[in-house]
Parts: sequence; C-alpha cells; structure tokens
Amino acid sequence: MSDSVFRNYIAGEWVEGNKGQVINISPADISDVIGNYAQADKVQTEAAIAAAAVGQAEWAKSGLEQRYSVLMAIGDELIARKDELGELLAREEGKTLAEGVGETYRSGQFFHYYAAEVLRQMGETADSVRPGIEIETRREPVGVVGIITPWNFPTATGAWKIAPALAFGNAVVWKPANQVPASAWALTEIISRQGLPAGTFNLVMGPGSEVGDVLINSRGINALTFTGSLETGRKVAAATAINLVKCQLEMGSKNALVVLDDADLDNAVECAVGGAFGGTGQKCTASSRLIVTEGIHDRFVEAMIERMKKLVVGHPLKPGVHIGAVADARQMEQNLHYLEIAKKEGGNLIFGGEVLTEETEGYYMQPALFTETTNQMTINREEAFAPIASIIRVKDYNEALATLNDTNFGLTGGICTESLKYATDFKRNAKTGCVMVNLPTAGTDYHVPFGGRKDSSFGPREQGSYAKEFYTVVKTTYIRG
Ligand code: NAD
Repeated sequence: MSDSVFRNYIAGEWVEGNKGQVINISPADISDVIGNYAQADKVQTEAAIAAAAVGQAEWAKSGLEQRYSVLMAIGDELIARKDELGELLAREEGKTLAEGVGETYRSGQFFHYYAAEVLRQMGETADSVRPGIEIETRREPVGVVGIITPWNFPTATGAWKIAPALAFGNAVVWKPANQVPASAWALTEIISRQGLPAGTFNLVMGPGSEVGDVLINSRGINALTFTGSLETGRKVAAATAINLVKCQLEMGSKNALVVLDDADLDNAVECAVGGAFGGTGQKCTASSRLIVTEGIHDRFVEAMIERMKKLVVGHPLKPGVHIGAVADARQMEQNLHYLEIAKKEGGNLIFGGEVLTEETEGYYMQPALFTETTNQMTINREEAFAPIASIIRVKDYNEALATLNDTNFGLTGGICTESLKYATDFKRNAKTGCVMVNLPTAGTDYHVPFGGRKDSSFGPREQGSYAKEFYTVVKTTYIRG
C-alpha cells in the first residue's frame, strides 16, 4: 500500500499531480504509511474547474431518478464498507475506530438523505398583480461548487457538502485537507464509479496555499463552501466577495456547557466528558468551556476527575480505547502551547495534560482539566482544538448565560439542568446556532440545519432541507397565457 500513488480525479480521469505527492502517515503510528497522494498545481485546479462547468451542464439535465439512484448507491456503499473505510479514517486522522466507523456510516446517511431530497424539489406558483399573468418560482442548480474541507471530519464534512451539491444538479471541485487525503480519495473512488458525466465531480488534493487559493479566487466557481479555521475563513470570504461568488463558511468555536446546581450530576459529567474530549477534543462543537454554578462546583470537579481517570488513551484501532491520537505534530505542539498559557495565566491544571508514550510512536495526550479559570483567559477565548477543558465557576444561571455568550464565537451551547424555566430561557437566549439541553454540545443529526453565529459561521446554513439555500438559485418566471 505504501508504494501506491493515489491520483487526483479531474474531468473523469485519474491524473498524476503536477506538484508530486505527499506521504500520508498515521498520527497514531508514524511508521504506518497510508500512501502517497498526488498534489495538484494551479493549472490542474483550473482544469478541474473548467471540466466542472462542462460536467455540470450535462448533470443538470439528468433525470431526478438518475440523481436519486446515484446518491443512494454512494450512500449504500459507504454504509456497506463502514468498517473498512472507518478503519482507514481512524488510521489517518487518529480518532478511534468507533468514531471512524460512525463517521463513515453518517456520511452514507447524508447521501441517502439528499437522495430523497432530489424528489422533494417543489416550486411555488402565484397570480401576478397584473390580470392574465401567472408566476412560478423554481430552484435551479447554482452551478460549479468549490468545496474546501478540514482534517477533523475527513469523510463527513465532504459528504454533507457533496451530497446536496450533486442532489441539486451542481458539479463539484473538492479540495480536502492535505493531512487526510485517504478518506477523500476513497469517497471519490466510489463516486467515480457512478457514471456521472465527466467533470461533474473532481478531486484536487494539494495545499491550501495553492489549490485552495485557486478555488477561492476563481470566477469559474459559482459557490464556495468552506469548513475550517476562522483565519482561513476570512481569506475565503474576502476572495469570494471580490468576485461576487456565493460563499458559505463554517469555522471554529469556543463552545460552553453550563452545569447548574440542580443538574443530574452523572449526566452532566457524561455530557462534559463526551463533549470536551470526544474526537480527541478536535471538534468544532467541542465544549472546551465548562461553566459551573457554585453549589455543584466542587462535586462536579470531583466527579469529572474520577470519570477522566477511566478514559483510556491509546492507538485508535486498539479495543477499549476511548481517546485516540492527536492529529499531527503541529496540533500536538498547539495543545501543549495552550496548556502552558493556561497555567501561566493562573489556571489550575487539576488533571491530565501529560504527553503519553504508547506502544507505537505517535501523538498521544492525556485529556486535561483546568479549574479556577476565568472567561477572560486565553484558554477560554481562543479555540485550542485540543482535549483540554476548563472550568469557570459562576454564581448563578444569569452569570452562566452571560459568560457563555461572552465570546466572539457561537456554534453550539449546552446546559445541564432539571429546571424547565432555565432550560427554556437558555434555549431562547444562548447566542449560538445550536442549543443542547441535557446533552453534549457535540453530536448533531443529519436531517436538520447545522451552523452557528458570530465568527463561527457565515452565509446560509448547511444540512437538512436548509442546504438548498446555498446549492440552488431561485428563478421567477412570468407567463401570459
Ligand atoms: P484550516 O483553515 O487550516 O484548513 C481548512 C481547509 O482550508 C484545508 O483544506 C486547507 O488546506 C484549506 N486552506 C488553508 N489555507 C487556505 C487558503 N489560503 N485558501 C484556501 N484554502 C485554504 O482548518 P483545519 O486546521 O483543517 O481545521 C480545523 C478548523 O476547522 C477548526 O477551527 C475547526 O473548528 C474548524 N471546523 C469547523 C467545523 C464547522 O462545521 N463549524 C467543522 C469542522 C472543523
């Protein structure tokens, strides 16, 4: 496997990269070489965009049942091969096998959901204010969609963008994160066997500075959907605005889970542990801030420590492991940097944070818990994307809500309480795109909208039926009979 070169897919052909290859190495075992992946250059990316325009014209003419069948087949195969592809995903990203398999299965569900959505494309009719004239509105494909995805959900992020793009008759040029090309390649290989018109789907692997830069600056792209960091998101927004290209951004966050005095303690601890450390803390929906009222604070801290002692960190494919590897050396460095800053600014590292040595050489870290932090500390302002959670002690519900909202981010927010009054108030006043009551901040469904507020999101919502706002344009037609 390590000698194979996995090529880009452009205009219906598998092509070598003009910029050579990158080696994909498992962060869980740096002696585990997953493969060599082709690197496209500017010229190849432009060729993919041009091919997409040709493919899109054909694909837009395809019948609804053809589109339905294609999307169903992709979903079926992802689900049938969830164990194999989930293992590949876990090897290349470092998340546990269960998380890798779950993500692959979920990716299949996205394709199934949008297969059904193909058959739900209804327009509207209206009478004109002028007698004898009828009006109809209908949605048309937006055209060529550029897709740029991050490394933390290598298959699912692609799936929740590719599936609606194809369902609504668009063509795709996909640039996955260069750290995790294997899952993207595997999904592309499945799509390449569905008989799509050449150019309808293109995979261009390569760095953001080259391939991504071409995509965000191209006038051949009609809509650009991006998931990644705030820093890159700002660049995407600026570049697409110049060309008046429709854009959708899903970025970072600094999500909080509020734990009130009346919370079910066991459930609050499960929500906090799952939300903060699942996926090694590398989730945009992770609850890295735990805002706890003073009446339950000490009991919560104690219970968290006991629960965290039971978390097994280890090789993602090893049975019984709860937390896999950190994604790469750079991310590990960032984690340790935030640990140091938190300590320097007065946070009390009460549990974890050690770099661990496992049987295989990789990037392993014991999840960390800080107490005595304030919402003004760097650890509570910036997204560390690490298995680090910090507790902020507050007086009461009102202070908890104000603290939760005191951030430039706003993706998800959670509360653990038995009080209908506080849960209802929270639901209405948390300034986040998603709200979780007695549930972890991470973990969302595939048939409803997903997105945030403030610096977490920009543009139309993703997922569910709301996705059509981004992937289609509305046409209004006037007819005199
Ligand atoms: P990143 O911004 O570094 O990279 C994301 C993608 O953008 C990659 O494919 C990268 O190659 C590309 N890119 C980088 N520079 C570019 C440029 N100049 N022009 C065009 N493309 C460029 O993010 P990351 O480190 O891969 O992912 C982690 C981030 O993603 C975190 O902030 C996380 O919160 C966020 N994220 C958000 C969501 C969400 O739905 N809100 C989901 C998952 C991850």
